[in-house]
Amino acid sequence: MERGKDVRARRRDLAVINREHIVDPDSNYCFGEGGAGTYSDGKLYTRSHKRGDVEGVLRTLVAFGASPDILVDAHPHIGTNKLPGIITAMRMAILACGGEVRFNSRVTDLMIENGTTRGVVLADGSALRSDAVVLATGHSARDIFRLLADKGVRIERKDFALGVRVEHPQSIIDAAQYHCAVRDPLLPPASYSLVQQVEGLGVYSFCMCPGGIIAPCATAQDEVVTNGWSPSKRNNPFANSGIVVQAPAAMHNDDPLSGMFYQHNVEHAAWKAGGERQTAPAQRLDDFIQGRLSTDLPECSYPPGIVSYRVDELLPIVIASRLREGLKEFGRKMRGYRTNEAVVVAVESRTSSPVRIPRDPTSLEHVEVKGLYPCGEGAGYAGGIVSAAMDGQRVADHIGLRYGAKR
Ligand SMILES: Cc1cc2nc3c(=O)[nH]c(=O)nc-3n(C[C@H](O)[C@H](O)[C@H](O)COP(=O)(O)OP(=O)(O)OC[C@H]3O[C@@H](n4cnc5c(N)ncnc54)[C@H](O)[C@@H]3O)c2cc1C
Repeated sequence: MERGKDVRARRRDLAVINREHIVDPDSNYCFGEGGAGTYSDGKLYTRSHKRGDVEGVLRTLVAFGASPDILVDAHPHIGTNKLPGIITAMRMAILACGGEVRFNSRVTDLMIENGTTRGVVLADGSALRSDAVVLATGHSARDIFRLLADKGVRIERKDFALGVRVEHPQSIIDAAQYHCAVRDPLLPPASYSLVQQVEGLGVYSFCMCPGGIIAPCATAQDEVVTNGWSPSKRNNPFANSGIVVQAPAAMHNDDPLSGMFYQHNVEHAAWKAGGERQTAPAQRLDDFIQGRLSTDLPECSYPPGIVSYRVDELLPIVIASRLREGLKEFGRKMRGYRTNEAVVVAVESRTSSPVRIPRDPTSLEHVEVKGLYPCGEGAGYAGGIVSAAMDGQRVADHIGLRYGAKR
């Protein structure tokens, strides 16, 4: 059951976000065939080597059209232009094996009787009965988190991170990393990975996209959310990265949805600051550090456009003050990083899920609801394409065994 549209129809909705600032709540950068991964950057690095067969995931991607280079590259990357074709090929294989994919089928309710899953209800009112339901709705399906809370299905608040996207001209990052005035054409566009502890919380770069684009990733009309992607050649003139601060669950109140509301409030404030459109509030990097409004802004890749705003004042003080100190330190670590040619774009808020849907470590079913299998990033068991894929495989294996499949 997929709330969104197929890859091709979805692409048109992304263009509408860029041009007309209209966000379809069921079809956007996060929702639709292939989920958030389809129009993602397609970096395939993971720290989850203990959790499953990373090479198996990479081989599967190659079987469906990814370059075999990803099997040997230290930092494998597919690129946004290649992913939709891979996802389409996967769907064709599922159909050829007798599977079924239903688009425009948003799940609006779970049927639970005596602590056991009985199926799902869809937005059109139809019901689908099943004793095994995999809930893999991602970290942006806030309606699902609300549904679980309303139904009394146990969920927990969880650590996440929040901050901004920072974009430099790629040439500045190349010069800093390769120590040369101009990058040799045989070298790939340079990337970076930076981290700094500030007053007890980590400030770090996240999802760095050399030669990339800042993407509008809101899933509702009244919010601004950024992320990043790059084509396989990474040949855009900009380098962007999330720069985020840890937002520990303990920072919020006991409500399991408190982190989700915190995220939304910041995203909503960014939308207001951007003129109640998908235009993102932005500030030159040194102006952000110095606490000054930027009188003008540099060119930026974010398609809906940016508008000058005191981003340092827009963000919660606990986040803004640590970002300021972290960015200062990054400027000391990497020559040229602290420059007013770079721009800070608000907000980067969907780095990971603010909610965990707890499951039994052995059966992988929800701790209280039999037959419900929380899965992937939205359930808090993955963070990225490869770990979400491995978690999906684990859950599928468990359900297969339950129904008598042989290993
Ligand atoms: C622009 C961008 C760039 C990214 N770049 C990278 C990267 O380079 N490397 C990396 O590892 N990760 C990247 N990510 C993150 C990565 O895409 C996610 O970690 C991954 O997709 C999580 O997989 P998932 O299957 O758990 O959830 P998702 O991919 O979020 O999938 C959830 C699915 O559930 C559907 N759904 C939600 N609610 C309902 C409902 N009520 N009924 C029916 N269907 C529903 C959604 O439409 C969606 O298809 C990026 C994300 C974005 C947005």
